[in-house]
Amino acid sequence: MKKRSARATMYLTVALLFLVAVRYTPELPDTPAADVLQQGTKHSISEFVDSVVAPPPRVETLNRGETLIGLFKRVGIGDQAASEIVRAASASAIDARYLKAGMPVEFTTADSTLENPKELTFHLGVDRLLHMRRTASGWSGVEERLPWTIDTVVVGGTIHANLYQAMDSSAARYFPAHGKDELAWALADIFEYRVDMSRELQDGDEFKTIVERMVGPGGVTRVGKVLAASFSLSGSNISAVRFEGRNASPQYYDATGRSMRAAFLRAPLEFRRISSTFGTRYHPILGRWKAHRGTDYAAAPGTPVRAIGDAVVVRAGWSGGYGNLLELRHRNGYVTRYGHLRGFAKGIRPGVRVNIAQTVAYVGTTGLSTGPHLHFEVLVGGVQRDSRMALKSIAGEPIARGERAIFEQRSAQLLASLNSSASGVLRLAAR
Ligand SMILES: [Zn+2]
Repeated sequence: MKKRSARATMYLTVALLFLVAVRYTPELPDTPAADVLQQGTKHSISEFVDSVVAPPPRVETLNRGETLIGLFKRVGIGDQAASEIVRAASASAIDARYLKAGMPVEFTTADSTLENPKELTFHLGVDRLLHMRRTASGWSGVEERLPWTIDTVVVGGTIHANLYQAMDSSAARYFPAHGKDELAWALADIFEYRVDMSRELQDGDEFKTIVERMVGPGGVTRVGKVLAASFSLSGSNISAVRFEGRNASPQYYDATGRSMRAAFLRAPLEFRRISSTFGTRYHPILGRWKAHRGTDYAAAPGTPVRAIGDAVVVRAGWSGGYGNLLELRHRNGYVTRYGHLRGFAKGIRPGVRVNIAQTVAYVGTTGLSTGPHLHFEVLVGGVQRDSRMALKSIAGEPIARGERAIFEQRSAQLLASLNSSASGVLRLAAR
């Protein structure tokens, strides 16, 4: 009785370790998922679990700072077998220098010791296994790619507090918690030259998106490509369509065929860096600072601040109520100011050139500030302006003339799907 329950515990442990393994390394395949799918696979997950449950192999994980040889010695593999396996594994798929701590390795052995195992399986990633087998001529390895499936879903919702919360209620049926955040970030990235997602969303605004959903081994679900998305902001509509030109990497364009990228980002903080507890619910208490004419972004101290456009640093130092202040001069008479900074990024000093989206400083609470936040100003021709208005008119480049016809066809198709589909799994026509 005791023995049986011990075995059951062991099997359960192995199964749990397998689940942990499957969840462990969250990296997407380098090759497009479709390619991975085509490669096929010899074992389905259920077969794999069955084989785990038959005579269970022993599962060990690589410790932090441990080498493969170190792991083998720890589990009792003989010196000669250990070095043979490492050599063969390196020749197959493993770069022994870049193995991740926590990587599970399964050992199958014919007898009760691990001195001379007959089979090893490395869980290289959530969808990558390396099977090593001992043959008459030595060790050899076969890499196995576990398949992902892709479908397309429509997710739409109404914003009440912020994008995270809107996503929480509308994407929960399709994505796990982290996936919902990923989707919010993906949308914020696509629109980051047009909409400041942390400041400009109002109660009652709406969003809708067509997005690929990737379901991997063990049911891991991830956000794939966002194919199209639209926001209705106080009644005005802005949409973005993903389009891959003949010689260009995929980009997003608005409905008129202009790139969603422009000369300026709409916000100096990346949306994904602002937790949902900051941002829209924040009310600045800076009334006593009379010169206050800017936008405040509440964010944790140390949050990276990015240049909203290509620029030259004009000032990087202490400036009264601003505390640590960074001032950037852009083309066409635009100047941006970033105040209350904890400090500046390495190498940031007057005269230095910076690129759009480059980290230039860190959020702090220096000067006349009641709590960690970024004070942000846009000046045009030396005059402080509302950044929402000042940056609004700057649109991206139109799509190349030679690509316009095919873009319009693709865009019309996607936008029609976007507008006509209710939230749910979408059946797209041939792509
Ligand atoms: Zn301010």
